Amino acid sequence: MDQFKNKQLPEFSGNTTINDKNHLEIGGVDSVYLAEKYSTPLYVYDTALIKERLNEFKEAFSSYEKETQVAYASKAFSSLALYQMLAKESVSLDVVSGGELFLAVKAGFPSEKIHFHGNNKSHQELVEALNADIGCIVVDNFTELDMINQLTTLHQKRINVLIRITPGIEAHTHEYITTGQEDSKFGFDLASGQAKEAVKEAQSLKYIDVIGLHAHIGSQIFETTGYEAVIERLMQHSKEWQDLFNFDLKVLNVGGGFGIRYTNEDAPLPIKDYAISIMRSVKQYSKELGLELPEIWVEPGRSIVGEAGTTLYTVGTQKTIPEVRKYVSVDGGMADNIRPALYDAKYTGVLANKVYAQYYTKVSIAGKACESGDMLIWDLSLPEVEQGDYLAVLSTGAYGYSMASNYNRLPRPAVVFVEDGKDFLAIRRERYEDFLNLEQSVDSKY
Ligand code: PLP
Repeated sequence: MDQFKNKQLPEFSGNTTINDKNHLEIGGVDSVYLAEKYSTPLYVYDTALIKERLNEFKEAFSSYEKETQVAYASKAFSSLALYQMLAKESVSLDVVSGGELFLAVKAGFPSEKIHFHGNNKSHQELVEALNADIGCIVVDNFTELDMINQLTTLHQKRINVLIRITPGIEAHTHEYITTGQEDSKFGFDLASGQAKEAVKEAQSLKYIDVIGLHAHIGSQIFETTGYEAVIERLMQHSKEWQDLFNFDLKVLNVGGGFGIRYTNEDAPLPIKDYAISIMRSVKQYSKELGLELPEIWVEPGRSIVGEAGTTLYTVGTQKTIPEVRKYVSVDGGMADNIRPALYDAKYTGVLANKVYAQYYTKVSIAGKACESGDMLIWDLSLPEVEQGDYLAVLSTGAYGYSMASNYNRLPRPAVVFVEDGKDFLAIRRERYEDFLNLEQSVDSKY
């Protein structure tokens, strides 16, 4: 194996440092202490960084003349404790299921600040949303519009809705593409005229207040041009619909997708750059089209929690294939972080118990699931790795725990929050006994 000096360490986020024991420290807490106290795999969240990111968003839009809402997209990571924390941060919340809504309500999150998304909301979920008096439903399709109409009429209850538009603009990292006909399971598409029909129909319904439009154009976006293009398109259509049937664009929700740093290859824009460009475009098109300035809503997920999360693993077995590579296996993998297997997502990591070393070697980090595709990181340079070392994989706060599974009956890891040198167990580790809570022994009559 090549050994080399002077590895460039990953750029650490937030309050992550290396202490005098050469251990990774997160939020003032030694990660080796955390691994030993709570066992591994372990998700560790730097909650000060979560609050900092929320404040950056709020601050970035604070100069806007009209109201703005920053709605945390809780699909990125949800927990009772996180929802309780968010409730104190005066932000809104985007939920996409009855389950997320249930947890948010249980946490005491103010329901009028909850927005409900999803392309297949069930009748039951819509009833739950109406009963909880949530702030708005983002309507995705005609079936849902019908169900909301029936339910609101039956219960004589008003509800605010945004109409989700598939704008024919898709943004990925540094570029965006425009397509005439948008082939997506989400929302009403513009090109076929369904979006116009949906807005017109929704406006005619007695208990439904159409407050605006929504579009989400992608993830890990490092450019502002995609947002600018979608704003232009939605505002032009709003103008047309205003002239045709008095549509009033009170709210323009441009979704989430703001990019973060997973590895040193990623260079995310400061949040204020997105905000400046979004506000500038909205103002420009309002003026050009003679529309009232709408409220601006955004739905960041990964950019709030992604870099705040670190996953700690214990190193187990190793296997060297001469002249090929060295596999280092850890005690988690695709069950706690499906993104590398699902999207070929890239991460980086360090040995939490010996960050700096004189020499580094290249290894590939394998998960423990019974799948060849369960590889967390290819070709990571680490100090000499030994069984029992702790590997910290960085920027795992988004779509890790929330996409975790029990594949191979691996219990879901615990989640710990750290801040100011204190640690707090937010979600306990699953136990084998938890599996039994759902199981029934076979009945002798069956
Ligand atoms: N809003 C919607 C409608 C989404 O589908 C998503 C992610 O899939 C988000 C917001 C959050 O995106 P991100 O976590 O990339 O900010």
